Amino acid sequence: MTTYTVPLRDMRFVLHDVCNAADTLSVLPGYEEVSADLMDAVLEECAKLCEGVLFPLNQTGDKEGCTIKDGVVTTPKGFKEAYAQYVEGGWCGLTASPEYGGQGLPETIDYLVAEMVGSANLSFGLYPGLTQGTILALAAHGSDDQKKNYLPKLVSGEWQGTMCLTESHAGSDLGLLRTKAVPNGDGSYAVTGTKIFISAGEHDMTANHVHLVLARLPDAPEGSRGISMFLVPKFLLNADGTPGKRNAVSCGSIEHKMGMKASVTCVMNFDGATGWLVGPPHKGLAGMFVMMNKERMFVGGQGISQAETAYQSAAAYAKDRIQGRAASGPQRPDKAADPIIVHPDIRNKLLYARSVTEALRALGVWAHLQVDISHKHPDANVREHADDMVGLMTPILKASGTDLGSDITNSCLQVLGGHGYIGEHGMEQLVRDVRITAIYEGTNAIQALDLVGRKLGIGGGRLFAGWLKEVDQTLASLKGRNDLREFVLPFQDAMARLSAATVWLNEAAATDPNARGAAANEYLRLFALTVLGWMWVRMAAVATAKTDSGDPYYETKLQVGRYFMSRVLPQTGAVDAVMRSGSSPLMALSEAAF
Ligand SMILES: Cc1cc2nc3c(=O)[nH]c(=O)nc-3n(C[C@H](O)[C@H](O)[C@H](O)COP(=O)(O)OP(=O)(O)OC[C@H]3O[C@@H](n4cnc5c(N)ncnc54)[C@H](O)[C@@H]3O)c2cc1C
Repeated sequence: MTTYTVPLRDMRFVLHDVCNAADTLSVLPGYEEVSADLMDAVLEECAKLCEGVLFPLNQTGDKEGCTIKDGVVTTPKGFKEAYAQYVEGGWCGLTASPEYGGQGLPETIDYLVAEMVGSANLSFGLYPGLTQGTILALAAHGSDDQKKNYLPKLVSGEWQGTMCLTESHAGSDLGLLRTKAVPNGDGSYAVTGTKIFISAGEHDMTANHVHLVLARLPDAPEGSRGISMFLVPKFLLNADGTPGKRNAVSCGSIEHKMGMKASVTCVMNFDGATGWLVGPPHKGLAGMFVMMNKERMFVGGQGISQAETAYQSAAAYAKDRIQGRAASGPQRPDKAADPIIVHPDIRNKLLYARSVTEALRALGVWAHLQVDISHKHPDANVREHADDMVGLMTPILKASGTDLGSDITNSCLQVLGGHGYIGEHGMEQLVRDVRITAIYEGTNAIQALDLVGRKLGIGGGRLFAGWLKEVDQTLASLKGRNDLREFVLPFQDAMARLSAATVWLNEAAATDPNARGAAANEYLRLFALTVLGWMWVRMAAVATAKTDSGDPYYETKLQVGRYFMSRVLPQTGAVDAVMRSGSSPLMALSEAAF
């Protein structure tokens, strides 16, 4: 069996000690009441739900999966009741505006809530995760009527939100999509087309679905500049706002997938379904990006969530399973062999998992604080800088959270040997479940292209320069701290490598059209490892100052950080070298030779 206890201590350490979240948030208009105690209370309450209700449904949900009969989708046993509890607890509307029934809490808290929900049950967490993105998109671009009619029920969680982008011939390249929207003459549109791979497109847990659908108007220009966004409910609303007549949208079939079997993935048919334009015509992609950016960071957190569960499960197994003797002599002479945790290779896997997961969590919290600042800070310059940081870190968090999360989950399976591969222990489910996170919400290759092709270029490198200032501030605040040399020096090496790689990339791209594409994944990895190194410097600075407290947590933190600095961060050297090999090793082979 896998095991999972919400890492509340580590979450509090990152929130309060490293990121000083309460002080940062409580000066933002609307968040005056946000204190450390309040945040702790929210996290503790959610932890009970995750450990007591959602985690026990994880393996059974995987075994049973979702089923469809006559277009009606049934979620696995226990999901409906668990979802009702989730709604009852107000978890769907944690960050939504109180105007629509939400609790108006910061995104930073929601990020940690989503991590623990994902760790407990990745499939379950995707349902409310999608609704939250729908809420953001409607709040940003919906008309007053759309907000009034749909937001309260989405915020309460009584209705499900979805994102309907993908078509069979239009995945990464949404400019190819063909779904049509024709004006009905009464302000509504008839939406016709088939969307595939739609998460939560149809199920039995909510009374209505609110689909946000990308489609083309009759006069739409070709490509991504001709895409509009429509709101298409499953049930049209009666005059009193309750769900009424069934709309012409239906689930044709559901996918049989490698993992996340309790999260339904639907083929959705829109047969002249009644919909309403959200935002201006032909600007739907920009509108949808409000949802996509939220979901990209959410999906990064999904990767981290699986790494955490895998780590905890592998660590428990490694202390229990006895095989072989320690190289330094028997550690448990009373037993026939020592627990496998004595072996350096097992420790390597566990420390890799833990050191990366803890740094990713810190990055997730820091990045979401930037989200909150970018939404609420009274000073426009501060908001712009925070927004820049969010823009820069979104592809990094999404791609590294999910790539490293997948790698860690796989490596933790190895700790269980053959027992990891068979179904009984649940580790193989984690590996299957996490795999999609590197693919959906824009594959990680697309994230890397977003970083090198778009984010680095904005404002002549303003985002990267803004982040360098953040790093400089950290280093300036640690000046003279000789006790941190083992963290600061390797981090400075990685920073120098990243800065030089950024210059190299721009120069290479000036003469080679394939340079960015060839370098993108390695550049993103180099950037991500360096950012994680930055997080470790910040965590080590706090932990070092607290080791005298007598709490062993801080010494353990430093040990884990030392592992990262000596065995993970140096990988930047190899990644950098691979990146600098340029595009010719990739492009030299003719297509026919493959
Ligand atoms: C379980 C599941 C749930 C999903 N949920 C949703 C949902 O709720 N809503 C929704 O709209 N979609 C959803 N999707 C779709 C998902 O977002 C897409 O699968 C994803 O964006 C990739 O598109 P594709 O599968 O068509 O792959 P393709 O776009 O065909 O890509 C194939 C490969 O080519 C690479 N590639 C493509 N273009 C480029 C390029 N320009 N440069 C370099 N490499 C490139 C990709 O990285 C990938 O490796 C879901 C998919 C799955 C499997």
